[in-house]
Amino acid sequence: MTHLPGPIFNAPGRATADRGLPTPAYDTPRPGPQKEKRLSARPTFFQRLIVPGLLRTWWSGVRHIWQKKLTVQWPEQVREVSDNYRGVHRLNKDDRGRMKCVACFLCQTACPANCIRIEAGPSPWPDRPKYAVRFTIDELRCVFCGMCEEACPEDAIELTRIYSLVGTRRDEMLFDKEQLLTMYDLTRDEKHPLRW
Ligand code: SF4
Ligand code: SF4
Repeated sequence: MTHLPGPIFNAPGRATADRGLPTPAYDTPRPGPQKEKRLSARPTFFQRLIVPGLLRTWWSGVRHIWQKKLTVQWPEQVREVSDNYRGVHRLNKDDRGRMKCVACFLCQTACPANCIRIEAGPSPWPDRPKYAVRFTIDELRCVFCGMCEEACPEDAIELTRIYSLVGTRRDEMLFDKEQLLTMYDLTRDEKHPLRW
């Protein structure tokens, strides 16, 4: 049985010498007494005074009065997001108002969060063999990575820039096919700066 040599992180100048190895430069003990810094739990006299602490806190507040405010007064104030922001999904429709999805399962397969569920069925239209009878996205599990829209060969699924997702129950955040198609109706007139 082969044993691996000693601990990798040796105490200075000991284990390497014990094994008959030359002491590397970084392993040489430093000259002079090694003083240990002890951390004391006892506060100093200055720390025990309340007034300096109060003044520091007050000054910290005063300094921020003139700084740029970062707080957004939602919902009165709507925050501008970046051009490439990925928000709530939508299922796109074609020019005849039908969902574009052909139930190929590529988005479900590509999803790293495993939050897409598709149930395929025979298509009622002659131009495709299948369509999604059920299509559900768990928006709470989703990490908004955009892999689903990258994987889709039909441009059937996209992420909008809508970020105001609110729900009081978990099942409200399971977006079904109808909700995802409604998201398309709500956003189709908006021009996405980068995607559509
Ligand atoms: S954005 Fe990413 S995590 Fe969300 S459904 Fe698409 S692939 Fe899955
Ligand atoms: S949304 Fe696109 S990738 Fe997903 S099943 Fe439908 S056609 Fe396939």
